[in-house]
Order: sequence, then structure tokens, then C-alpha cells
Amino acid sequence: CGIVGFTGNHQAAPILLYGLSRLEYRGYDSAGLAVRDGEGDTEVIKAKGRLKVLADKTNNGESVPGTCGIGHTRWATHGEPSETNAHPHMSDDGNVVAVHNGIIENYQELKDKLIRNGYEFYSSTDTEVAVKLVDYYYKKYLGTPVDAINHAMVRIRGSYALAIMFKDYPGEIYVARKDSPMILGVENGESYIASDVPAILKYTRNVYYIGNLEMARIRKGEITFYNLDGDEIQKEPKTIEWDA
Ligand code: GLU
Repeated sequence: CGIVGFTGNHQAAPILLYGLSRLEYRGYDSAGLAVRDGEGDTEVIKAKGRLKVLADKTNNGESVPGTCGIGHTRWATHGEPSETNAHPHMSDDGNVVAVHNGIIENYQELKDKLIRNGYEFYSSTDTEVAVKLVDYYYKKYLGTPVDAINHAMVRIRGSYALAIMFKDYPGEIYVARKDSPMILGVENGESYIASDVPAILKYTRNVYYIGNLEMARIRKGEITFYNLDGDEIQKEPKTIEWDA
């Protein structure tokens, strides 16, 4: 299970596929990508099995152009390994698309609440519940992505590293973390997200660690951190001295 994210000037998909390959040691049963070209629609491609299947399906990333994206390798906890259950998961109108590592313990209760509010579910994952909960709060409170994620974090019990893209915010990725690993990096006006350093060490040695119950907004070359109150917090990057 691994997460990689990128927003910058280069094509995202090849960077995501490379990063995921460096996280293969963590184990997985399926993989997927969401890539967005400017303000266009986000394209989601998923595949059961090895990363090679995803790489072949996307012509090594070339068939999904765009400079902002998120990638995922899944180790199934809720729902069998399948293309439908693979991440990313998206809200019906494409408003929110996300990848997740971890376990949403109270997903059934949250799913029932969302179904009462008109949401439909297509996978058997706990992750789809988290994605639609963020969508629900985004629309209910008409706030920022950070506000919506914040509301969802207060309701979710369990563990998560989440990387989320919002239709209204092209070129941006939002992350939240609790008890699942995630790091961020910035280099040369470009930004990276990963479950672990080897995924991005080829691109940068400037790494930020995001704490438990913190969030971040990732733009090209700029990362802003937030606490659970939604207040900005300052962080200094650490320099990675070792080689992968
Ligand atoms: N619980 C999620 C699922 O089963 C995420 C698993 C993971 O960490 O890869 O889809």
C-alpha cells in the first residue's frame, strides 16, 4: 500500500508510476492513478494486479497527460482486490477524487448516513466512504477544501493517509494523515507526496514530515500545513542525507 502525488511542470503520470514502483516493497494487490490536465476533467485509470498492468494500460503514463495527479497501490482491507475497489475513488460529479492508505473503522455508520443523504456506492471499500464524506461536507458548508477535510477528520475513526483533488482547485492536492505514513517534498517549483522517501528521492532531498491529525495544501512548489483547527502551521524541511 502506497501513495504518490505530484503537481508541477512535468508530466505527472510517469513520476507517479516510478514512485509507486519504489513503494512496491510495501505490498499491494492493485494500483491506480488520477491525473488532471489543467482545468480539464480528471482521468482515473485503475488495474488489478502488478503495476506493470497499469503501466501497460497507460502506455507508461503517456496516455494520461497532465501535470497534477495522485497514484496508489492498494492492499485490500475492505472489499476484494478488484478494479472497482482499486483507488482512486471519486464522487459522482467528479467534485472530489482521492486515494487512501489505512482503515476507516466506522465506515458503515458513515456510509449509512451518506446513503440517507442520497449518495450511492459502487465499491465495497471504506475509502469510498471517506471520499464521499469529504464531498458531503464540502457541499454542506460551502467552505474550502481544508474545511471539508477537517469536518471529515472529526467524524472518521481509524487510520488514514489521504491525498485528495478537488474539481474547483486545479493544480492542487490536499492531504490529511492519522497513523499512516506520508511525507511531502518540494524542489524547483514542483511538489511531491509519498508514503515513504524512496518514492521521491530521485527528485528531491527536501522533505517535510506531516504530523498526526494535520493537513496540507500542495501547490506547484508550495506546501501549506494546517492543524485540526484549520490554522496554518509552520514547518521546516529536513534534508535527506542517505541514498535509497
Ligand atoms: N482500506 C482501504 C481499502 O481497502 C485502503 C487499503 C490500503 O491501505 O491500501 O481499499
